[in-house]
Amino acid sequence: MATPAKERVLSGMRPSGKLHLGNYLGALANWVKLQDELDCYYFVADWHALTDDLDTSDVPGYTVEMLADWLGAGLDPERATLFIQSLVPEHAELHLLFSMTTPVTWLERVPTYRERIEQQHLESPSYGLLGYPLLQSADILMYKPRWVPVGIDQAPHVELTREVARRFNNAFGPVFPEPEVKLTEIPKVPGTDGRKMSKSYNNTIDLADTVETIARKIRPMVTDPARKRRTDPGNPEVCPVFDLHRVYSTEAERQEVTQGCRTAGIGCLDCKGILIRHMVEELQPLHEKRAYYAAHPNEAMQVFTAGSERARQVAQETMAQVREAVHI
Ligand code: SF4
Repeated sequence: MATPAKERVLSGMRPSGKLHLGNYLGALANWVKLQDELDCYYFVADWHALTDDLDTSDVPGYTVEMLADWLGAGLDPERATLFIQSLVPEHAELHLLFSMTTPVTWLERVPTYRERIEQQHLESPSYGLLGYPLLQSADILMYKPRWVPVGIDQAPHVELTREVARRFNNAFGPVFPEPEVKLTEIPKVPGTDGRKMSKSYNNTIDLADTVETIARKIRPMVTDPARKRRTDPGNPEVCPVFDLHRVYSTEAERQEVTQGCRTAGIGCLDCKGILIRHMVEELQPLHEKRAYYAAHPNEAMQVFTAGSERARQVAQETMAQVREAVHI
């Protein structure tokens, strides 16, 4: 009996340089898991980088860093199609056609568009910024995926994609199935200063960090502010270090740490030592593999060029159907 085809899933990431643990635990680790269950398409959204900054001189370097992170984390070109958006120019053609069917008001009401205008005081936002969610819709619908894995805050973008598909299908006939959101559970990942881990706060732990760097960043990490002296009892529930224990340490060790913290039985440095040991155990193999690809960027690029050719075949099939439907 033939094996039923796996359902397809699609997701992408903008090339913004080295990935940190927030990026890894919030998306990439989940992508790696999905490789065995689903037909996965993952892409580097390099055209989207133009909506951040027209100076794109960093994009090639950032792309290589990200490819190394993806491969280091365990994305496997044998089990997933890994590609680069700009190597599949059909995305731009589909974006153009969607721009003919989608009302401007749909795009103007996208919350991230309004936020960007307000935060950056943009007096004359580009058409590309307004059309960004439409390019995202083209990226997704091109591959007719069943699922789009996103965090809850990204779910409205997938809803817009469904509306774009419906509108196109109503005008030209049923070409695009509507994808569904696959909600990704995102653990709380604090940065070393206790705020959300983010490049803009300069508080990240990166997949590229060595064992020594991880230890150097964790040792001075912010803890329960009420625990000023070694003899003060602490509260793990308000301690960012403990949030990382939830990700990396065993249940038994979390209980030990909780007990030790609440009774001042252990010091914060002992507690961080346990965390560092677990983080290093888990992250070192990733680090070594990513270091290999960072040192051999041509090999990483070859993987993505081959993946882009595979993706392009699917894109060309979709575009043949689209062109037939629109009679152009
Ligand atoms: S002992 Fe651990 S959990 Fe308690 S305050 Fe210190 S670092 Fe945080």
